[in-house]
Amino acid sequence: CGVFGLWAPGSPVSHTIYLGLFALQHRGQESAGIAVSDGSKIWVDKGMGLVPTIFDDHRLQALQGRAGIGHTRYATTGSSSWANAQPVYGNAAELHFALAHNGNLVNTEDLARELGLGADEFGSDSDVAAALLARELEGDRTADEHALVSAFARVLPRLSGAFSLVLLADDCLVGVRDPRGFRPLFLGRLDGGWVLASETPALDVVGAEVVREVEPGEMVVIDADGVRSLRPSWPETPEPRLCSFEYVYFARPDGYLRGQNVHRARQRMGEELARQAPADADVVVPIPESSIPGAQGYAHESGIPYVDGFIKNRYIGRTFIAPTQELRRNAVRIKLNPIRDNVAGKRVVVIEDSIVRATTLRETMRMLRQADVAEIHLRVLSPPYRWPCFYGMATTDRSQLIAAELEVDQIREYLGADSLAYLESDAMLRAIDPQNPSGLCTACLTGDYPTPVPSVPS
Ligand code: SF4
Repeated sequence: CGVFGLWAPGSPVSHTIYLGLFALQHRGQESAGIAVSDGSKIWVDKGMGLVPTIFDDHRLQALQGRAGIGHTRYATTGSSSWANAQPVYGNAAELHFALAHNGNLVNTEDLARELGLGADEFGSDSDVAAALLARELEGDRTADEHALVSAFARVLPRLSGAFSLVLLADDCLVGVRDPRGFRPLFLGRLDGGWVLASETPALDVVGAEVVREVEPGEMVVIDADGVRSLRPSWPETPEPRLCSFEYVYFARPDGYLRGQNVHRARQRMGEELARQAPADADVVVPIPESSIPGAQGYAHESGIPYVDGFIKNRYIGRTFIAPTQELRRNAVRIKLNPIRDNVAGKRVVVIEDSIVRATTLRETMRMLRQADVAEIHLRVLSPPYRWPCFYGMATTDRSQLIAAELEVDQIREYLGADSLAYLESDAMLRAIDPQNPSGLCTACLTGDYPTPVPSVPS
């Protein structure tokens, strides 16, 4: 998911949030929403689909406020439905708030039980976090902005897992990252205001200057007095664990994470891969789009020419669930089609960022064969994805992860490639941050989870 927050009295808040969400569309395409505060009321508007299909000028004009938050959703817990779209609204003790969340909590069921909520009484982990905050506020007679911020600071240490949150109250905006900082969050400065955003390109597009990352475990409170930094009493002070897959495919290439440009990190992954797994080939071809910088890196390091082997249809959002195998194959072709002249008769190094289920990739390999390539040498910019993610990325059970079920050579055979190699973990981490390859999460590669997690079905 993508989150965005804005404190900018006197400006058209909802239009600016819209631009920020547009820049974060890649982080979630299922639903989106905006909440604004005019100082005494909070208004929330949300819908299913892409940001520009939900909001038009008319809807944005109706959202008048001096501060606001926004969210683009990619459902990893809870179904993809309007009810689960965010921001989540809450109120208690005459205070109103709205919350937007990126990441997944791993103790949702325990928290829900504590609140007396049955499994069908909440939609997602974010609802449970909002319900906890509302309960903490109940009975608080000093109900003002400070009470809300301190209630939030008391609730946060009870959440376990991944959360980059933005919270909007009548008179303030809060941003917080869990102590491991699984998901990114940035603070930006705008003329006359402040911005919070999941990624730096969202600050760029609204004309904000990047001030810094919100640190893992930090809570920033923005109000009429400016910005304050607080540290809730976390139960532990763990090592940071930013998700390494943010660099592999999730984050925008024009962004920066921990000071590293994502595009450049992907190029370095390709360079590392060329050194680790060379191939005797005529051309290097990326599977667009997130593999393009990696293919550039592989081509540069190996000296094998880079060519475009596929055209990606830019107008594809979510592909429909096709009822037959034949239609499913065609659905892959709607997204991606080979440029026959660039690959026919050639020995091709195909660069892919990662392999999760491999079903689409298998169809892609079949298309290349139909385009008469001579050989396919598949090179993957990350190690085998063997364990489910509980922190906000394509959560799935192990049986859906091809590398959990099959050895590398069996995967090669399944995909119909002549050779297959994955980038080794050390090399991937070095490519991400050559000076500081530590402090990153790799749990889906190793099964070594940095927090307790719900049991992993084998
Ligand atoms: Fe990222 Fe994998 Fe960790 Fe999930 S388990 S946060 S995908 S590195």
